Amino acid sequence: MVTNTEVKELGHFINNEIVAGLSGHFSDVFNPSSGAVIARVPIATKEEVQGAIATAKSAFPAWRALSVGKRVEIVMKFRQLMTARMDTLIDIICIESGKTIEDAKGEITRGLESVDLAINAPHLLKGDYSVNVGGDINAYSAKVPLGVVAAISPFNFPVMVPLAITSLAVAVGNSVILKPSERVPCSALFLSELWKEAGLPDGVWTVINGDKDAVNELLENPAVEAISFVGSTAVADYIYTTGSKYGKRVTALGGGKNNMIVMPDADLEQVANAFLGAAYGAASQRCMAISTIIPVGEETANNLVKVLADKISKLKVGPYTDSDVDFGPVITKQSKDAIIGYIDRSLEEGATLVCDGRHPDIAENSNGFYLGPTLLDNIKPGMEIYEQEVFGPARNVVRVDSLEEAIDLVNAHELGNGVTIFTNNGAAARKFTTEIDVGMVGVNVPIPIPVGYYNFAGWKRSRFGEGHMFGPDQVRFFTKTKTISEKWFEENSESVSTFAFPSNND
Ligand code: NAD
Repeated sequence: MVTNTEVKELGHFINNEIVAGLSGHFSDVFNPSSGAVIARVPIATKEEVQGAIATAKSAFPAWRALSVGKRVEIVMKFRQLMTARMDTLIDIICIESGKTIEDAKGEITRGLESVDLAINAPHLLKGDYSVNVGGDINAYSAKVPLGVVAAISPFNFPVMVPLAITSLAVAVGNSVILKPSERVPCSALFLSELWKEAGLPDGVWTVINGDKDAVNELLENPAVEAISFVGSTAVADYIYTTGSKYGKRVTALGGGKNNMIVMPDADLEQVANAFLGAAYGAASQRCMAISTIIPVGEETANNLVKVLADKISKLKVGPYTDSDVDFGPVITKQSKDAIIGYIDRSLEEGATLVCDGRHPDIAENSNGFYLGPTLLDNIKPGMEIYEQEVFGPARNVVRVDSLEEAIDLVNAHELGNGVTIFTNNGAAARKFTTEIDVGMVGVNVPIPIPVGYYNFAGWKRSRFGEGHMFGPDQVRFFTKTKTISEKWFEENSESVSTFAFPSNND
């Protein structure tokens, strides 16, 4: 447990125990709301990661051999513990990430959807069975776990993403190693304690803290069968390329640059309210946050910007301890400075500043990493702030003349995580959902994140590999299929030798 006043030295979680780091090398964990260091997380050496992998590997055979019903009992107990300790978990998320309490609750609720999916493992693991495919042979297929699988998570969902990329992996019988973001390790360590209390056997669940070196060992070590990564596009690309080179199954989800198209018939009050939360919630640190609003037609744009300017000026930024705030700080001082840099350079490139969040009042009385909401109008493709994912509350307006132009614009961008349209026109919505080249699509839904029993992943450079962050496709990703052909001889049955390729016609 982490508090606001002590600076705690954290460890790794190996063999169901917190173990101290051996490297002597630590990374500071901040409370972004106050700017204070709250913990120091150890950065694992290659040898420490190798040890953790060996432990996970030795736990695998017994975990695989346990009935799926017994495994799922443990997952259900884990879920009960999570809901029973919800308040502690919310505290930890808020302290180390700066999220508001409501936002932390939402993240846990969505994370639990992945645990719920994992509880369905007995159903999801069912294979096929065919009687007498030829020669009295019965054929069946079984989905069996891979072995040791690794999950690497980003800072912006300290609980939801780790749950999304590990829960089903555990339930189907793998040993799982999580490498959480070094900026938010406390949540992952707390989840580890819950797994232990739920009765997960030693070595099945591991948390190894570290940076690039720890990740490289996971990518290269032959005992790791699969990698599920969520983070920025540059790192996702690297993880996919390197993991694939070492023969692993890899899914690597990257960043997003998500658009909200606004048709002239849309209700602008509805649109503006939807945009506020989708664009600035969690200080815009969501891979599915709306970063660009695209009004169709000059009149729509002028009216929309007026409504937005008024609403944005009333948003409140501050610490999670103030229940009135709409969003909190960004994750680090470096991140805050980088976002200000994007805004400054966009103005040099010709953007119009509608709302300026670079110097919020609260920043004068706090060392927290606060930024207010910024809205920039007249952004054009080719500008840095349009092309890059900006992971903080600086949002864009791009004006277009037609739906076709809006669709072409979205389709031309290298990222394709989420997109939404606001309209009352069914034909426009249908054209949009048919022609848009993006993985997760909304119609009058501000953030079209699928529920846990649908697959989650972007397209283009928002995803490398064929897997999904959550959803039923994960069963395919975290298992391999064994197909068995089986025949039993009756007593004294005739035995012949045949050299033709088996045709199964008799
Ligand atoms: P990040 O890429 O910096 O870090 C993600 C993980 O990779 C961390 O565990 C980190 O320690 C590790 N890492 C960082 N640099 C590495 C390197 N060079 N080699 C190997 N490992 C490295 O991402 P972040 O800043 O923690 O998270 C924010 C990013 O994650 C944003 O781009 C956001 O869009 C993205 N994200 C995407 C999704 C999605 O579903 N597509 C979901 C959440 C977040």
